[in-house]
Amino acid sequence: MSTHPRQRRLHRIAMVTVHTSPLAQPGEGDAGGMNVYVLEVARQLARRDIAVDLFTRTTSAAQPPVVEVEPGVVVRHLAAGPYEGLSKEDLPGQLCAFAAGMMRVAAHAPPGYYDLVHSHYWLSGQVGWLAADRWGVPLVHTMHTMARVKNLHLADGDEPEPRGREIGEAQVVEAADRLVANTDREARELIELYDADPARVAVAEPGVDLAVFSPGSRDEARARVGIPSDAVLLLFVGRIQPLKAPDVLVRAAAELVRRRPDLRSRLVVGILGGASGTGVRNPMGLTELAQQLGIADLVRFVPPVDRSALAQWYRAADLVAVPSHSESFGLVAVEAQACGTPVVAANVGGLPTAVGPAGVLVDGHDTADWATALESVIGDPRGAAVLARTSVEHAAGFSWARTAQRLAEVYADAMDHPREVPIHDAELLAGIPTAVIP
Ligand code: UDP
Repeated sequence: MSTHPRQRRLHRIAMVTVHTSPLAQPGEGDAGGMNVYVLEVARQLARRDIAVDLFTRTTSAAQPPVVEVEPGVVVRHLAAGPYEGLSKEDLPGQLCAFAAGMMRVAAHAPPGYYDLVHSHYWLSGQVGWLAADRWGVPLVHTMHTMARVKNLHLADGDEPEPRGREIGEAQVVEAADRLVANTDREARELIELYDADPARVAVAEPGVDLAVFSPGSRDEARARVGIPSDAVLLLFVGRIQPLKAPDVLVRAAAELVRRRPDLRSRLVVGILGGASGTGVRNPMGLTELAQQLGIADLVRFVPPVDRSALAQWYRAADLVAVPSHSESFGLVAVEAQACGTPVVAANVGGLPTAVGPAGVLVDGHDTADWATALESVIGDPRGAAVLARTSVEHAAGFSWARTAQRLAEVYADAMDHPREVPIHDAELLAGIPTAVIP
């Protein structure tokens, strides 16, 4: 038996998600797939007897300091700066306050309360780094998105991610005991763009809640969401920001109508989600774009909805378009497929993994190519039915239980095989001077 102090059973982890609460409604602002990921994974870990404390920033006076989501899953709201009015870009200035809050919670808990820290997104990585170091436990980090990847795939009108973020991310990559990537591609990006040690990179694919996202009657779903039964519904779901590229769908829909005037009276372009991101023209000038293209009457904006209403929208759609310029995974694609709806997605980031062989992948964002891809699905009902079937089969391979199982393995590995303390740190800790001033 090893005598290393870290080699012990995993009871409780501190999950850090500074900039967005797992309790927020996904689909607008900064709340999206990461929020869904963190909450679903925490629930599944709790069912494996790994209790999860989720640390997030207080954004409203109405939020109590501690919320029990279910046994074993607790959300801890920490005050760090004014509750309202701060954007994600303001948060690097609040990380010290946030970290101090985490330290206070641990100081009031029994010694060794947390066995491991799992941080999400680089801001949390910075805080998680300090917490793991102070508590003498491993740091596991998930990037979710990376500045260097985003900057390689900028959409028109998108500001490049700042250098401070790149530097902060690189520090977290260096400090983490394990890095969790959503896909093999993301693992490669971590290694190639951030010089991550391959031995410390693990892949855990995200999941989907098949109890919520399942096939159902299209007519019933259309009656629920108010779409006529003979309509052709092309649906976009997600945060409305240039990187998500809902404008690509609007342009392609206009081109489709030009090619197939018979569709004009039946086509509906659903844009479901709220505005997000810095400097976004709310909502990305999509109404003006649709007016310019002469299809404003076909575009229907729908504010964010909860998960069961979202499942109805997926079922109601003839296809779901995911035209993102960059996407670390793309939960929307898997959720739509789980509902038996064909997906047309950009061939970027994690989307090829998310949609698998069941989806239609489009290289680039050219309007004509996207119109052709949309037409290939809606103009071929038999082919679309095959796509729908294979989509359900493909999505059935994803589950949050599987994600949590994989994470539990990564945690156990990080605890059993901690990193060696770099030599300069050892000297620092021992107080040995490394240089003498003559
Ligand atoms: N979502 C939601 N309601 C909405 C719109 C989106 O619950 O009205 C959820 C959606 O189900 C998905 C997440 O937001 O789980 C978006 O995740 P995705 O990975 O597609 O994109 P991200 O936001 O991470 O960029």
